[in-house]
Amino acid sequence: MPELPEVEALAAFLDGKLAGRTVAAATPAAFQAMKTYDPPLSAIEGLTFDGVGRRGKFLDMRIGELHLVMHLSRAGWIRWKDELPTQPVRPGKGPLALRLRLTEPESAGFDVTEAGTQKRLAIWLVSDPEDVPGVARLGIEPLSPEFTAEVLIDLLKNERRQIKGVLRDQSTIAGIGNAYSDEILHAAKMSPFKIAAKLTPAEVTDLHAIAVGTLTEAVERSRGLPLTELKSEKKSGLRVHGRKGEPCPVCGDTIREVSFSDSALQYCPTCQTGGKPLADRRLSRLLK
Ligand SMILES: [Zn+2]
Repeated sequence: MPELPEVEALAAFLDGKLAGRTVAAATPAAFQAMKTYDPPLSAIEGLTFDGVGRRGKFLDMRIGELHLVMHLSRAGWIRWKDELPTQPVRPGKGPLALRLRLTEPESAGFDVTEAGTQKRLAIWLVSDPEDVPGVARLGIEPLSPEFTAEVLIDLLKNERRQIKGVLRDQSTIAGIGNAYSDEILHAAKMSPFKIAAKLTPAEVTDLHAIAVGTLTEAVERSRGLPLTELKSEKKSGLRVHGRKGEPCPVCGDTIREVSFSDSALQYCPTCQTGGKPLADRRLSRLLK
């Protein structure tokens, strides 16, 4: 799933391609992806892109007075095409969710696609991004100047949840998902199951610096890369996430995994949990 650094790079790329350009046609191909119908998608035809930005993991395309907001979810992506296919869009089962064609040059534009059978990609056309419930709920942007160590100390001081869950809760901090929360906790040498309120102010100050550093580094690595390379770049930059069974790049211990019903986290026991493997709940349930 694209997280803050990838969506940031995607937004910067699209901003360079789209700002000042005019929409010729916007054609939905997967109707379940469209979460709003008033105004209709055709309302952006003839309007000019003002720019493309990011809020959390949401893309915000400013077009005239409107905002085309997208959440790519797990398997969504945007494919820029200097030459879009000319045959008409056929709504149906394929990966195409939306095609947007520009006026000049006539063949350029982008496809919004979603791989797989689980269709969770979502698109809204609104006059204010805050009209999108997921955007309205977003917590603080971790790369904004407002996100200081003091702010994080305040967010966590009464937080009874485990730190892994807090870091990826979009309504607490915007843009960090399963992958970067694994990376941040590994770099901070912190157990994902640690109760947030039990962290000392010094530990939270450290965690804050590491979170900002990890995300900034990932944004820097992604900047300017072609869209086709962003996903592989994300993967190659990760040190523990998705690397179960591989040696930890810091200490050489084997990276372990805890699986949940719809996701899994990876961590290094030596770096993060005093050498003790964490209980894998799914596995222990199977063994009962
Ligand atoms: Zn390690």
